[in-house]
Amino acid sequence: MVDIDFYGGVDEIGGNKILVKDGKTSFFLDFGMGFSKANEYLSEFLQPRKSNGILDFVELEFLPYIKGIYREDYLEHVGIKYEPEPSVDGVLISHSHVDHVAYVHHLREDIPIFLSQESYLILRALEETGASAFSEYLQLKKTFHMGPNKKGDGYKRLKLAVDRDIRIVKPYKPFSIGNFSIKSAPVDHSLPGASGYIAINDDETVVYTGDLRFHGRQPELTNKFVQESKNPDPQP
Ligand SMILES: [Zn+2]
Repeated sequence: MVDIDFYGGVDEIGGNKILVKDGKTSFFLDFGMGFSKANEYLSEFLQPRKSNGILDFVELEFLPYIKGIYREDYLEHVGIKYEPEPSVDGVLISHSHVDHVAYVHHLREDIPIFLSQESYLILRALEETGASAFSEYLQLKKTFHMGPNKKGDGYKRLKLAVDRDIRIVKPYKPFSIGNFSIKSAPVDHSLPGASGYIAINDDETVVYTGDLRFHGRQPELTNKFVQESKNPDPQP
């Protein structure tokens, strides 16, 4: 049996953080910022404090409190134990709009992130050029890490950067997460590289649209996704 928990994206536009699990395997569909919640509390110059680790985000209910998914530096800084292993097996990113991807910044680096080549390139550009303090989509730079000065006369902040586990997926080329065989399906949206996903385990099929349209430049992509979803091929 497949359970689906919605931690965002219900009765709002975007903010999708949907956890799919079947007992052994679990993965998120997107991990985005909910605009409605963010607009309630934040503005350009009023952002959550990085110095408060994960707490502002959880306290204001931007992020759900789930063990084993958040980055070590943000947890340990506020005295929350870091689990040795991640509690989810991956995140499938549908596209690179912030309401679908922004909170990947907060995830631990050993959770695999699956996304299209185009989404990867857009995130890389955002990460390299973005002014946001919360845009470590591909590489995580550990904060609050101190180490001894070379001269031995005190401590300094260490800038440790670690690459995330990025997995670029090709259209309709199956890949596995645990028990699930999954295909990404390009769809038409206002951003290149937008994808839906078709995930199949032994009993059920989960189809995730992400954001799509039928009236745009490439309706044939979306139509193909609809057709493929009707008759999903369980073979990897
Ligand atoms: Zn979108």
